[in-house]
Amino acid sequence: LPELPEVEITRRHLESATVNRVIVGATVDHPRTARFNASAAEVESRLEGRRIGALGRHGKFLVATVDDGWTVLAHLGMSGRFAVTSDGEPRLPHTHVTITLDDGNEVRFIDPRTFGFVSVLDEDELTGSALSRLGPDAWDQPMTAETLSNRLAGRSAPIKALLLDQSIIAGLGNIYADESLHGAQIHPLTPGGGIGPDRAAILLEAIHSVLGAAISAGGTTLDDLAYLLPDGRAGENGPDAYGRDGLPCSRCGTLLERVVIRSRSTHYCPKCQT
Ligand SMILES: [Zn+2]
Repeated sequence: LPELPEVEITRRHLESATVNRVIVGATVDHPRTARFNASAAEVESRLEGRRIGALGRHGKFLVATVDDGWTVLAHLGMSGRFAVTSDGEPRLPHTHVTITLDDGNEVRFIDPRTFGFVSVLDEDELTGSALSRLGPDAWDQPMTAETLSNRLAGRSAPIKALLLDQSIIAGLGNIYADESLHGAQIHPLTPGGGIGPDRAAILLEAIHSVLGAAISAGGTTLDDLAYLLPDGRAGENGPDAYGRDGLPCSRCGTLLERVVIRSRSTHYCPKCQT
């Protein structure tokens, strides 16, 4: 699934194509994609005629401000992606949102499984949205080791599960949580409360390094090709741990193992992650 690096790459691509452009028309053709609004028509009417201001990201959410105090909140879900195309290009199957810009280009949201969404919210609606419950962004809002260890203090849940909790730290999903724990040499079943400030510092450094490398490589495209760069290419990030059970650890050569933690597949080195 798209995680912070894939959403950041999407954001950068969309930013250059959309900021300061005026939306001349919008079409939303799947009610699930518009589920945080009253209707698909409400999303369309709130977008039409408005200029796009800043395009930001918090965790795995894209956040765009548009004229008159509206905020566009979008999430790629399991399989969603954005593409910028000229208006004559044929629509791919599962294109559920088409936003036509004043330069003739179109921003299209393609989402076969419809777990993603595009919503247009006012200030009150935004306050009640998932965005308001996010912890600091794992890339743009680095925490101190003290802050992270305080957030984990007293928690008996495995650190792997806590890293997926977007209210603690926002942006990590299954791939980059496994990669970060491998980088930090922390066993995924370690209780959160057992991560003191020293290991929290190592973990934060590993998170930053894993996310930075993934952003530079264009994100991670798995065999299912669910995530592709906005221009249609595959991301070139190669995980060290995620999905590599049975293969040798890049650090010590021990065969990596797989365990299920809170119903999420987890990949780790039984020797050098303690
Ligand atoms: Zn190892």
